Amino acid sequence: MVWWEQAGGHGWPMKRGTACPCGWQHSAASPRATQVLQLREHVFWTCTGASAIRRAIQHNLPVSVQLLSRHVWLLKQRCQTVRKEMWYVVCLAALTAMLRARGLMLSTPSRTGVEPAVVGTRAVDLLLAALKDFAACQGGVSSFSDLGQSHPFVCARPNGSLAVLLQLPP
Ligand SMILES: [Zn+2]
Repeated sequence: MVWWEQAGGHGWPMKRGTACPCGWQHSAASPRATQVLQLREHVFWTCTGASAIRRAIQHNLPVSVQLLSRHVWLLKQRCQTVRKEMWYVVCLAALTAMLRARGLMLSTPSRTGVEPAVVGTRAVDLLLAALKDFAACQGGVSSFSDLGQSHPFVCARPNGSLAVLLQLPP
């Protein structure tokens, strides 16, 4: 995926010896290019906000399906219960929310005071907001109006408009 390959220059190289607000730190012994990759993987998969988002996505997939990073990063449809185009929407919403969740952590005045549960909740709120934004942008009658009323993540209302249907994990 082009975005992933080009995202190496995302502008977040951390200073040596610094850590993510969640406590994660790249390997100090790794070359700089590797550290950038480690940071990108962390932000989009293992950081507090990203972890909460992928748990929320996993919760809406069949139990037999294990969500892996490549399914989100490369927009690879993981199961037939989610329409391919909707999976793209979910992945892009997730990646956007993961990035914004990290921004929230970095903008917190006292980074040491960030509670993981709060960041996780805010991150899932960002995912919900991105999905709601997509549904709202589709207008009164969407081209996805045949999704059905129980399609995970985004479903169709009887009137043809879309609604977010995201079950949250306990
Ligand atoms: Zn982190």
